[in-house]
Amino acid sequence: MTRRVVLVGGGYVTLHACIRLRRALRREIQAGTVELVVISADEAHNFHGFTGEVLAGMMPLRRTRTPLDRICRPATVIHARVTTIDRQHRTVTYLPVASAESRTLSYDELIVGTGGREPVDVVPGLADHGFTLRGPGELGRFAAVVEQLSAAGEVGGRIVVAGGGLAGVELASAIADRGRGRIAVDLVHAGEQVLPTLRAEHPSLARTAERDLADLGVRVLSAVRLAAVTPTAAILSDGTILPADAVLGVIGQRPVLIAGLGTDLRDPEGRLLTGPDLSVADHVWAAGDAARVRHLRTGLPVPANALWAIKGGAHVGTNVARVLQGRPPRRFGYRGLGQAASFGLGRSVAELYGVPFTGPLAWVLRLSFFLRFMPSRRTAVGVLGDVGRVLGGKRFGADGRWHRPKPGQPVSPAVSPTVSLSVSPSVSPSMSRSVGDGRGSRRSDPMDVASSSGSAPSAPRMVEAAGANPAESSRRCATPGTSPFSLVTHTPAAACQACATSITALVAHNAT
Ligand SMILES: Cc1cc2nc3c(=O)[nH]c(=O)nc-3n(C[C@H](O)[C@H](O)[C@H](O)COP(=O)(O)OP(=O)(O)OC[C@H]3O[C@@H](n4cnc5c(N)ncnc54)[C@H](O)[C@@H]3O)c2cc1C
Repeated sequence: MTRRVVLVGGGYVTLHACIRLRRALRREIQAGTVELVVISADEAHNFHGFTGEVLAGMMPLRRTRTPLDRICRPATVIHARVTTIDRQHRTVTYLPVASAESRTLSYDELIVGTGGREPVDVVPGLADHGFTLRGPGELGRFAAVVEQLSAAGEVGGRIVVAGGGLAGVELASAIADRGRGRIAVDLVHAGEQVLPTLRAEHPSLARTAERDLADLGVRVLSAVRLAAVTPTAAILSDGTILPADAVLGVIGQRPVLIAGLGTDLRDPEGRLLTGPDLSVADHVWAAGDAARVRHLRTGLPVPANALWAIKGGAHVGTNVARVLQGRPPRRFGYRGLGQAASFGLGRSVAELYGVPFTGPLAWVLRLSFFLRFMPSRRTAVGVLGDVGRVLGGKRFGADGRWHRPKPGQPVSPAVSPTVSLSVSPSVSPSMSRSVGDGRGSRRSDPMDVASSSGSAPSAPRMVEAAGANPAESSRRCATPGTSPFSLVTHTPAAACQACATSITALVAHNAT
């Protein structure tokens, strides 16, 4: 009899569970007594860690997308969205991407790695007129807009990034880096200061990141929320209207909901509650952003990031293999490693086992970590090639080729006007329309997420008091038309080259 393990999702949890399962159950899989099936709404694994590099033109999009059927072998990969799980009969129902007809598949063990999505419904218009980056195809669509704006003639583009956490700060930096003065970037943050989590533990790292943001000309608007998005503007909670060619929401995430895994299995934020061995219920396991996993030592929920998804997924894979072999599952005892963010070539902040790093060393540490966990050795080698090209002053262009940025690009970032108008909220059709109705939406694949964990922003207060923004004067400009190293105060080239050998060694250890 063949026992079937079904893995839902195509992210870090699924990939690393698959790797462990195929190692631990090699004989059973070869003998045909165990079968692995991956059902994913995206046909490729997305390496989110390099999102900033893609937006900055430091690597092509394809480097972050690895086809699941290549890296999850020998699993059968089904490109579909799972809609229902029936725990009693142990079945999953899914809707294939290329078909309107649902199908059902039985499982013996089920691994849920469906991750999270941005809570777009808390910001009217974000789903229809804005961008988020977690769903299938979303990064490609947004990267195309950034490329288009950075290549546009004399007129500068304007992009508003909402969210002052690590991802928001990293992406705002990357867009500014890519724009090289052609794109004015506003970073909108609800708190008093960006990077609150990092700042609480490592204030000096947060200050370094802020300096990097300023060096790149990113304007930070603090203590204000993104309240609504229209086709041409971001409307803030204090009534400010920021004209924008694109608005990117990096406003946190909520776990994806699947019918059949109901509230009795979830915490108030919608995360699947896991036990010490990462089981959720009989024959159901979870990890990553979709799950609440408790840290063995602190008892607190572990952060929602790639490292914990990787380690959690690997542990679930091991435990499912043990259960299928008639052995008891083990407790998840991973303790963590640290965190890192990059703000362009040679500029990063990182924390490793509590020790803070900045500048080129932090950048190399982060790169080394990512290369270690790239889904394939081939892709990791490709990334090293990209790094070499960028060190040589090249960027990846909208034409799909590497090129050196032309000399004589604008020195100053384009001015991002702050406009306050006297209008009624009903003026904008996008704001009176119910969000997520699909009309004109840029989202290709609506997915259910857990009910709102944050309060909806208050209606925008429209005022009639235009004026200069003091933050504008603090905008600092990068020197265009030169090597990217001219943007930094340190000299990262030597450090980068010195570390090339260690990176190569890490790649050699990378999983295939
Ligand atoms: C822009 C961005 C940058 C980031 N940068 C970093 C970083 O630098 N470092 C870091 O540690 N973390 C980073 N993260 C966070 C990190 O990517 C996540 O924590 C990690 O992806 C979680 O892994 P996961 O496997 O739980 O979910 P994901 O990787 O999100 O995978 C979820 C998968 O499930 C699929 N899916 C969802 N619903 C269904 C369904 N109903 N049926 C079938 N399939 C479904 C999705 O298509 C996807 O394939 C970043 C995230 C983003 C969005």
